[in-house]
Amino acid sequence: MKPHTHEKNLVPISSLRAEEARRVRYILMDIDDTLTTDGKLPAESYAALWQLHSSGLTVVPITGRPAGWCDLIAREWPVDGVVGENGAFALWENAGHRLASMTHPEAISNSDSRLIVLRDEVLAQIPGARLARDQFSRLYDIAIDFAEEEPQLPLSAAHEILSIFLKGGARAKISSIHVNAWMGDYDKLSTALLYLKTRFGYDDVRDSGSVIFVGDSPNDEPMFSHFPIACGVANVHRYRDFMKALPHFVTRFESGAGFAEFAATFIARRSGIAIN
Ligand SMILES: [Mg+2]
Repeated sequence: MKPHTHEKNLVPISSLRAEEARRVRYILMDIDDTLTTDGKLPAESYAALWQLHSSGLTVVPITGRPAGWCDLIAREWPVDGVVGENGAFALWENAGHRLASMTHPEAISNSDSRLIVLRDEVLAQIPGARLARDQFSRLYDIAIDFAEEEPQLPLSAAHEILSIFLKGGARAKISSIHVNAWMGDYDKLSTALLYLKTRFGYDDVRDSGSVIFVGDSPNDEPMFSHFPIACGVANVHRYRDFMKALPHFVTRFESGAGFAEFAATFIARRSGIAIN
């Protein structure tokens, strides 16, 4: 067994200190394969979201999923808004169930002709690549499915898709299921910061240490690299050879069970309960 060339030991989430946990006000998380397990939202991770929300924390999913899904999430989930399409926009519900949104100033419609040309190039050149089935509810990005539905394509195919989009001048990221591509200069991090600042008065210098992000895959890298107390669910190990930025912490369990483990550990630390 050859060692990883850039071996870095992730720290178990059980080492999170009480004083770190008590400074946190914002819990941000990826959705696919972080909250969900094999495409479903399990009771344990949904219950964990409710628990975090009920503890008075500001809970905001940061996802590559489309505008149409984010409408539902902002309205029906126990969250304080959602950032969608890898940072194209944020959606949230105000008092009186009034839905509000902010779009990143750089966001460009996915009907942009440059993006359409690249989409067609990918579909023509990569065997098995297909548009994600949620494409109809997207406003700003193109999503190519490589692992949401069967047949799953290898990660190497996702990298070929990525490179066609990048060479063509688009932004693109690989999640655990899709390759997403868009034209504007933004990502999950830039819009998460813009949203927290605009809506909650978050100051990235003064409030450092008040955010935890939980994620699993390469499109979460901007978040992992920025937030010092980011946490990966255990499936993040699958991508560590492709990722330059890894989270500081990791859970023992994968996907939804990993998120539930994170939430239980975090809440216990805040209340001073010792757990393993
Ligand atoms: Mg994910």
